[in-house]
Amino acid sequence: MRYGTMKKILVTGGAGFLGSHLCERLIAQGHEVLCVDNFFTGARRNVAHLLDHPSFELMRHDVTFPLYVEVDEIYNLACPASPVHYQFDPVQTTKTSVHGAINVLGLAKRVKATVLQASTSEVYGDPEVHPQPEEYWGRVNPIGFRSCYDEGKRCAETLFFDYHRQHKVPIKVVRIFNTYGPRMHPNDGRVVSNLIVQALKGEDITLYGDGQQTRSFCYVDDLIEAMMRMMATGPEVTGPINIGNPGEFTIRELAEAVIDLTGSTSKLVHRPLPPDDPRQRRPDITKAQTVLGWEPTIALREGLTKTIAYFDAYLASEPKEG
Ligand code: NAD
Ligand code: UDP
Ligand code: UDP
Repeated sequence: MRYGTMKKILVTGGAGFLGSHLCERLIAQGHEVLCVDNFFTGARRNVAHLLDHPSFELMRHDVTFPLYVEVDEIYNLACPASPVHYQFDPVQTTKTSVHGAINVLGLAKRVKATVLQASTSEVYGDPEVHPQPEEYWGRVNPIGFRSCYDEGKRCAETLFFDYHRQHKVPIKVVRIFNTYGPRMHPNDGRVVSNLIVQALKGEDITLYGDGQQTRSFCYVDDLIEAMMRMMATGPEVTGPINIGNPGEFTIRELAEAVIDLTGSTSKLVHRPLPPDDPRQRRPDITKAQTVLGWEPTIALREGLTKTIAYFDAYLASEPKEG
């Protein structure tokens, strides 16, 4: 599927997990891509296969500082996504979401670009409405360990809608639910990468709490397709729109699937539940279905199989970080 004619597209956080897949897809469609990243959680390795492509440019830059470039579209993905990484330097996390949003919005305003924000299901916090529709305002602790991420992303959404109302900047806001796949950081603590790496290494598989909390896991290719469809919508579509896979699994079920698919002899062990860990999460994707004509196509076991193959090869080659 093509999404219009060739454009110059800025992808912030483009050397990260989702960003690298997005850059790849945009290049494949004939666009010029400027990938901006400070390499906090991303790596050149993730975009190594694009570096020699004439339509790809990689720039080291921190989005909390202004950026003057000429582009037609912006995907704003810069922000660490895993709890371990976003809690490492929480002040920088909030700055990345808030100052980063101000800078990309200021840029979009100046060059009249459409700008898409990678928001998150975390704006719903630990929800008392299930599944979560876009109209739900959420239940977020403003002063907890997750707040730098949750409130930073909420404030970024506020900025997007205010720049849209006040300055007529064309915006697109997608709320991404847990997404997994190749190029996830192997040590970032997220559940899919943790469990697969533990299973492949024959280490104990860590279930936090009783393992009965739920998440809905979307395979990366489905997610990127939805983001690109969102960017291709007309100016009247701003979102927010949930994108994710509504299949809901307990963390224990996920662990059992990983053990089954890897043939691992690892044992399940319990560890304390981190503070403010949401009990359940599942997207209501009615809007994505009607507005984008999109729904996920890759089932959990199929996506896990591809992800396991990636980590298997990754662990076998043991590349240096960075
Ligand atoms: P990731 O950590 O792999 O990617 C984030 C990228 O942003 C990294 O390359 C990192 O180096 C870069 N970055 C961080 N701070 C920066 C800064 N100040 N300036 C420039 N670059 C910076 O995470 P991901 O899973 O690819 O997530 C991408 C985006 O999608 C994030 O905004 C995240 O909040 C959002 N999101 C992801 C998920 C998911 O399940 N993967 C869910 C909801 C939202
Ligand atoms: N900005 C940027 N690139 C641009 C235009 C603006 O990084 O091409 C930054 C600019 O530094 C400013 C922010 O975006 O801090 C917000 O811009 P806006 O024009 O809204 O605000 P102002 O410059 O009036 O404070
Ligand atoms: N989790 C787990 N074991 C791990 C890592 C995570 O049981 O090794 C749990 C975690 O407590 C949470 C769920 O898996 O309930 C998803 O965690 P992740 O950090 O991937 O994402 P988020 O909590 O941001 O949805």
